[in-house]
Amino acid sequence: MYFISTRGKKEKIKGSQAIINGICSDGGLYVPESFPDVSDKLDNLVNLSYKDLCFEILKLYLDDFTEEELKNCINKAYDDKFDCKEIAPTVKVKDKYFLELYHGPTCAFKDMALTLMPLLLETSLKKNNIKEDIVILTATSGDTGKAALEGFKNLNQIKIIVFFPKDGVSSIQKLQMQSQEGDNTYVVSINGNFDDAQSAVKTIFNDEEFKEILKNNNYILSSANSINIGRLLPQIVYYFYSYFDLVKNKHIKLKDKINFTVPTGNFGNILAAYYAKLMGLPVNKLICTSNDNNVLYDFFNSGIYNKNRELILTSSPSMDILISSNLERLLFEISSRDSEKVNNLIKDLNNKGLYKLDANMKKNLNSFRSEYANELEVKRNINKVFKEYNYLIDTHTCVAYTSYMKYLKKHKDCTPTVIVSTASPYKFSKDVLYSLGEEVNNFDKFEIIEKLSKFSHTEIPYPIKKLKTSLILHNENCEKDEIKSEIKKILKM
Ligand SMILES: *Cc1c(COP(=O)(O)O)cnc(C)c1O
Repeated sequence: MYFISTRGKKEKIKGSQAIINGICSDGGLYVPESFPDVSDKLDNLVNLSYKDLCFEILKLYLDDFTEEELKNCINKAYDDKFDCKEIAPTVKVKDKYFLELYHGPTCAFKDMALTLMPLLLETSLKKNNIKEDIVILTATSGDTGKAALEGFKNLNQIKIIVFFPKDGVSSIQKLQMQSQEGDNTYVVSINGNFDDAQSAVKTIFNDEEFKEILKNNNYILSSANSINIGRLLPQIVYYFYSYFDLVKNKHIKLKDKINFTVPTGNFGNILAAYYAKLMGLPVNKLICTSNDNNVLYDFFNSGIYNKNRELILTSSPSMDILISSNLERLLFEISSRDSEKVNNLIKDLNNKGLYKLDANMKKNLNSFRSEYANELEVKRNINKVFKEYNYLIDTHTCVAYTSYMKYLKKHKDCTPTVIVSTASPYKFSKDVLYSLGEEVNNFDKFEIIEKLSKFSHTEIPYPIKKLKTSLILHNENCEKDEIKSEIKKILKM
């Protein structure tokens, strides 16, 4: 298996190299040269444990890793850092299915990939005889930052610097990051929103001169953002695992189709679902869901991507995004892998903030549907789901739930549907408790967490509980055009 660029550079590299590089030198994203077809092997995979399934799927892409290397990484990643042995359970709540992706060390779905990707990177460095230190630069809308910090902490040969938008993350997310331990971890808040932070980090990645300076200081830049193929591949696994869960519990028969409804931001999670479909997982529709920042909703319904609008801060901050980086990989597929078309669209996006699909590409969006949910609907439905089902969901998951209910109203589709649940409700306790009709003003965040636990009769996850006694270890702040000097300071260059 080789990986190629979405933008057409004639370069084919192996998985370990693609994980090290993060992004192609032509600015494109790495994609697998082709998708392995497992449609006639499903019955061999159906009963595997999460780790074994992960191995079977990843070995198809990372065939330059030895069996031992890959298994070592997988075993270290999915251990008792997760609070349930299934790692990613699909739970049936009355007639709905929720795929819970938040049982990892930071209580959000980013853990699914970020417990594994750093180990894959560490192994890749060894395999490729890289002597320099790697600097992981990450812009985060909240959950990635903490998950990446946890995943990379204290790894050899790697430093991680996380930039987060000062007012664009929840207070729990902020505390999670600012209390990060590990002697190779750095956290800086940026005055601006997530897109400011992400664009600033992207400029660094395209700054050849700066990269040269880094190189002279024995550093190589890489990214832990979901554009790294090492992030994307592990996310394919749980779509298979969830499907097999439904089979094992006799909710569906093998080969029956199901839908997935995904709360979407950077388009990484749902892209992994699409990759699973391209590999032969029986998927009917993928329902891409947004909050009030409904760029993707407009895109799927009109074929026009238009980021020219104000970013709205919502109660689902991990989805407050106007530029979904991973969409480029979808453009590559729906253009039948025509990198010239991809280049033109990306140019339009950079120059005009907007692009329009041609008729053929638009037609190829047919695996997708899209809906969005506003703040009031999210609040109402967190309450409704709790009252009716006695099941507590977070704001992001509720965007997916609400959007799915809207989808059902418009389309007669009785395909079993899995709602992808991306964060523990405790990560967003204030909004969740408020949605349940409880008083939240005049309480601090830990009182709110306690109140949520009492009210819902659910347990506070340990990683959230322990925040109460943790210390602030990082308090740096900078302007968005200062991040270069910030990096220099951190790396002592
Ligand atoms: C990151 C995140 C999302 C969005 O996922 P993408 O892969 O960026 O589309 C949704 N919900 C939560 C809780 C997240 O952390």
